[in-house]
Amino acid sequence: MNVRRSPAELDAVVVGAGPNGLAAAVTLARAGLRVRVYERADAPGGGTATRELTMPGFRHDVCSAVHPMAFESRFFREFGLRRRVEFVTPDVSFGHPLGLGRAGIAYRDLSRTRDALGADGRAYERLMRPLVERSTAVADFTGSSLVRVPDDLRTAISFGRRALEQGTRAWNLRFREAAAPAMLTGVAAHTILSQPSIAGAGAGLALTAYAHARGWPIPVGGSQAIADALVDDLRAHGGELVVDHEVTTLAALPAATVTLLDVTPKALVRLAGAAMPAGYRRALERFRYGDGVAKVDFALSAPVPWTHPELSRAGTVHVGGTRADVADAENEVHRGRLPEHPYVLVSQPSLFDETRAPAGMHTLWTYTHVPAGSPADRREAVVRQIERFAPGFRDVIIASSSRSAREVEEHNPNYPGGDIAAGAPNLWQLFRRPVLSMDPWRTPMSGVYLASASAAPGPGVTGMPGWFAALSALRHEFGTHALPDLSPRD
Ligand SMILES: Cc1cc2nc3c(=O)[nH]c(=O)nc-3n(C[C@H](O)[C@H](O)[C@H](O)COP(=O)(O)OP(=O)(O)OC[C@H]3O[C@@H](n4cnc5c(N)ncnc54)[C@H](O)[C@@H]3O)c2cc1C
Repeated sequence: MNVRRSPAELDAVVVGAGPNGLAAAVTLARAGLRVRVYERADAPGGGTATRELTMPGFRHDVCSAVHPMAFESRFFREFGLRRRVEFVTPDVSFGHPLGLGRAGIAYRDLSRTRDALGADGRAYERLMRPLVERSTAVADFTGSSLVRVPDDLRTAISFGRRALEQGTRAWNLRFREAAAPAMLTGVAAHTILSQPSIAGAGAGLALTAYAHARGWPIPVGGSQAIADALVDDLRAHGGELVVDHEVTTLAALPAATVTLLDVTPKALVRLAGAAMPAGYRRALERFRYGDGVAKVDFALSAPVPWTHPELSRAGTVHVGGTRADVADAENEVHRGRLPEHPYVLVSQPSLFDETRAPAGMHTLWTYTHVPAGSPADRREAVVRQIERFAPGFRDVIIASSSRSAREVEEHNPNYPGGDIAAGAPNLWQLFRRPVLSMDPWRTPMSGVYLASASAAPGPGVTGMPGWFAALSALRHEFGTHALPDLSPRD
């Protein structure tokens, strides 16, 4: 590619080696630039790290475990992630136990899901079919800044109508039974917003569409495989990675034409200090963070004994009961309280990937929502909730590791107060992420760009904020509008 190179030793410095920092670094290196990444942890990955958290031989995902966007995100499609990382994609994308042996089951196949839902099957299919059939258009619409006219207006309108229905008190009108509404709220609740909410419903519908279209894949070996693939590509194109290096001020960085930051707006204000124009600082200080998560990982001597057999085939299980139960739990969190019957996200990757635990044993990944910054250890609350739908669960636990929301932030400052979305993904902040702008990645400081999940299009392992930040930097600082080729060269 024809890019204007800088006279300095480096063209680009990236702070933070999470999926977005690495996506930015890979994009710039692929454009022919000299790139160096600084990471405060002892290894790259950020929200895609995998570690032995409980016992030797049990490989746990420290943050993300399941990757609905791995096959759908535009950046990962360009990067050819499927060709670089081995994934397993369970036939049951997610399940939702409802007690008395009942459950909602989301198969990768929408027709099969409809048939299993009985009386509500047709209504559920009518809601989801147009989005499932156009899942890539849905991913491209939700995976870009909302401050622009969507490329595919028809899909955007169809999506918006459905989000309005499922994000308001009209949400039960089309349903008669418990399973379909519970399934939809189980996914919408990933957003840690009060329920119902239009932004939560939007995210939930997109993720549910991917569940029925291409499934929710799990990387063999853990999420670290995604970070490793990005680092391999970066190094293969001349990029450098420096770990164990916390950047405390932008002024201390080596000279380079551009600096891309995989950090929150809060951290950006601190790192820039007096160099940041006051108006932009005030805008970043208005950016709001959401509630948090408490994480609990388990080493198990046997699989979770779910009463509903299909749940043992699910990549993800949403525990929390009916739609009303999940909404009550989430709204309690929103009011600053710890719910007695919390909503819990559960995944048991060792069911599909034998590299994750010693033979015959299992790793279990769970987290639950808590008020921002809560110091609460939610281990017992999570065990009690899973026991409701899998009696005997307690007996198969051989070790566990628990992290409060406060500790989640201590581990990674990109999750303030345990907010894993790096900024509440409410409707307003989907437009203003982190500021209302056609180019929200570019800051008013010369050559400085925000490349994290706090920037559009927001949270999840997508690489999209990093990719957009890098493309903006290429346009403005290096004079190229061309998209670097990111595909694997084999
Ligand atoms: C418990 C949990 C569960 C999750 N589950 C899922 C899931 O199943 N699926 C999914 O898609 N998403 C999930 N997520 C969200 C997902 O992990 C994030 O949205 C994603 O990782 C954001 O990527 P990022 O690159 O913006 O930030 P991060 O992945 O957080 O990376 C930021 C990196 O920057 C580094 N850094 C920060 N400040 C500095 C500094 N000053 N100097 C040097 N380095 C710095 C950090 O150490 C970190 O490595 C989960 C997150 C958590 C915490």
